[in-house]
Amino acid sequence: MEIGLKGSIPTFAGGLGVLAADLMRSAADLSLPAACVTVCWKHGYLHQHIRPDGSQDYEDMEWNREKELERLPERVTVKIEGRDVVVGVWVLKLQSHVEGSALSGRGQKARSSAGVPVYFLDTDVPENSPQDRAICDRLYGGDQAMRITQEVVLGFGGVKMLRALGHKDITYFHMNEGHCSFLTLELLRERGFKDDEVRKSCAFTTHTPIKAGHDEFGYDLAYRIVGDGLPWHIKKLAGENALSMTELAMSLSHYTCGVSKVHGQVSSKMFNRPIDSITNGVNHIEWASPEMQELFDELIPNWRKDPLQLLKMSRDIPDDKLWKAHQKAKKKLLTLVNASQGEHPFSEDVLTIASARRVVPYKRPELLYTNLDRLRQVGDGKIQIIHAGNAHPHDQFSMDVIRHMIEQSWELRGCIKIAYLPNYNPDLAKLLVSGADVWLNTPTRLHEASGTSGMKACLNGVLNLSTLDGWWIEGYAMDPEAGWRIGPLASSLSPDDTRQIDAEDLYTQLQYQVIPEYNYEGRARWLRRMKRAIGLMGYFNANRCVLEYWEKAWK
Ligand SMILES: *Cc1c(COP(=O)(O)O)cnc(C)c1O
Repeated sequence: MEIGLKGSIPTFAGGLGVLAADLMRSAADLSLPAACVTVCWKHGYLHQHIRPDGSQDYEDMEWNREKELERLPERVTVKIEGRDVVVGVWVLKLQSHVEGSALSGRGQKARSSAGVPVYFLDTDVPENSPQDRAICDRLYGGDQAMRITQEVVLGFGGVKMLRALGHKDITYFHMNEGHCSFLTLELLRERGFKDDEVRKSCAFTTHTPIKAGHDEFGYDLAYRIVGDGLPWHIKKLAGENALSMTELAMSLSHYTCGVSKVHGQVSSKMFNRPIDSITNGVNHIEWASPEMQELFDELIPNWRKDPLQLLKMSRDIPDDKLWKAHQKAKKKLLTLVNASQGEHPFSEDVLTIASARRVVPYKRPELLYTNLDRLRQVGDGKIQIIHAGNAHPHDQFSMDVIRHMIEQSWELRGCIKIAYLPNYNPDLAKLLVSGADVWLNTPTRLHEASGTSGMKACLNGVLNLSTLDGWWIEGYAMDPEAGWRIGPLASSLSPDDTRQIDAEDLYTQLQYQVIPEYNYEGRARWLRRMKRAIGLMGYFNANRCVLEYWEKAWK
């Protein structure tokens, strides 16, 4: 449903789309014979303005499809409420960043570097009525009827379009989240309604342990919109009481996984069936700052093609070179921050903590401000803080959280510098995950499926300070020197008690670990941690992740 390739193609809301882009980039880098299908949202996902009082405006992010994508002539039709709706398509080709293929030698299916096409489906074509042209207007913008209509376009339309584009011989269809799982129904039709014939070539990844993140539609609505597209045994596949897109995907997949070890287990419990896990990764070339790229090019031969080298070689990076590259990236970020900072600019010599993410309740972005007196006591003059993050405009609670954080930053004025940068997107993320010293992440345990921004930080030698959830359970276990944890691994306390304990531990970590280590003469321990963090990226990269998919789901 979303892909986050870059800020100028705003067809994504957050981590799900950014991850999809990274996996496809790595598929291209590895010369895998893959293609990706998504939707061309005409009005891009939401530009955030922050008013002086901390309240926010969100408006469509207009973008230029003609400039960013190539229109292809192919057309297919899907049935929606009994009428034919025409679906067109655009393409963007991802080319390999690296010479040669990691899979050549493994032979059979790997092809030479033809690139990975990303197809953007679109109903905004002259053949359609104005009403149907508007189906692909906005990502996550409509009601249930609009959502299921969009999912018909993506699922049924996606398979048909791949056929029309000449991809007749597809071995595996991988469903990334349940939004696209109608594709199984189109395959059922192609394959004489034999479940097993569909199941053997489908695989599925679930991306959230939060109930509301899984689309469910009432059968009245589903029959009205999808009609004959639903097979006679749909309730057996997708649930008796409501059509669950996740159940549908799982029923017709030979392999299902979550996106971190803990998320695989949580999902198994939630859906009461065995669900494996493949821990996410980020594309190591995409997310390394220009300064780090230069450093790695000089010191870590072959890191672009073989990111495992980051694990093997990062410990040998000389301290002075690493610090210089980091400070350069930090300077870039602080230049941006200071452009809006007025008379109290951020300093390159002060420990800089960044915390940026889509603002939703479970991520608890306000945890740092639980006890302002304590924060003042710990951080006065010793830390500066940068935030960014958008809320969904229908989520008043999260918009209020942002406003409240901004109000609290005024209370700390004169003591701790705090900036809230508007309009978090991958371009801003790149500056933040490379230019900060510490990456702060405070999700409620068992709610963060994986998280990927912390991996981007590691790659740039930025140290994670995070509650143990999602990928960080694994990262911290692999190398506790690569950053810090907040609070215990699991908690049986109430959410409010847990919040108090986590906040208290966050202040303690800052006071006794993070701030002193940053300020020790020579920063030896800090620099060692930076190298350990980079080392973790030998594992938490998207090349490893895609190859794990290849081994477990596509072979
Ligand atoms: C990486 C990234 C995300 C996902 O980060 P989380 O760790 O899941 O919060 C979201 N938005 C943008 C713009 C990103 O670059």
